[in-house]
Amino acid sequence: MAHGQPTILLVEDEAAQRAVLAYNLAAEGFTVLEAADGEEAMMMAEEALPDLVLLDWMLPHISGIEVCRRLRARENTRKLPIIMLSARSEEVDKVRGLETGADDYMVKPYSVSELMARVRKELRRTRPASVGEALHYEDIELDGETHRVHRAGAEVKLGPTEFRLLSTLMEKPGRVWSREQLLDRVWGRDIYVDTRTVDVHVGRLRKALSQHGGDDPIRTVRGAGYALG
Ligand code: CA
Repeated sequence: MAHGQPTILLVEDEAAQRAVLAYNLAAEGFTVLEAADGEEAMMMAEEALPDLVLLDWMLPHISGIEVCRRLRARENTRKLPIIMLSARSEEVDKVRGLETGADDYMVKPYSVSELMARVRKELRRTRPASVGEALHYEDIELDGETHRVHRAGAEVKLGPTEFRLLSTLMEKPGRVWSREQLLDRVWGRDIYVDTRTVDVHVGRLRKALSQHGGDDPIRTVRGAGYALG
C-alpha cells in the first residue's frame, strides 16, 4: 500500500542484495519498486515516477551509468534524485568524472544505515514533510514529525488524508497539481479512487484551514487542478 509515502525505485540485478535493500527500505516506511536491469528501470521510472532511484552501476544490457544519463535526458525524470551504488571505488571516481548527474553514490559493501541516511537526505530536499521536516507557508505550519498543523498559532485538526494533501501542496507552493497527480501522491498509485474524491478532500481541507478565519490558501486552477497560493 503506497499511502503517499515516498516511492523508491531500486535497481539491482543481484537478487539477494535487492531483497536486503528492499526489506530495509520498506522497514523505513518507503514504497519500493524493484527492477533487475536497466530497461526495466527505465520503464518503471517513466511509468511510476518514483521519488528517488537507487541505481546499481553494474547491470546487464544497459549499465547504471547509461540509465542515469537517460533519466537525466528525459523531462519527467530530469530532477529525480539518483543515488548510484557501485562495487569499487574506481567506479565512484568515474561517476564523478563522467558527470552523469547522480546526486550521490555509495561504494559496496556499504552500511545500510548510512545508505538510509543518504536516502532521507535526498528526500529532505524533494519530499521534506515525508521525512519529518517542518513546512511553512504564510501563516500555516506543518510538522512532518508530529503530524500537527497550526495556522496563525491555532491548531488545525486534519484527517490523515487532508494532512497528506496539505503536505503535498506545501512541499511545492505555487505548483499546479492535477487530480491524477494528487491521487498518486496522496492516496498511492496502487489504489483506485475516483478523481472526484480529490475535490471532496480539498473541500474538507479548505474548511479545516479556515475554521479560525483566514483566507482560503488553495487555488482551483480551472481545467488543471489545485495549487497552494
Ligand atoms: Ca550488479
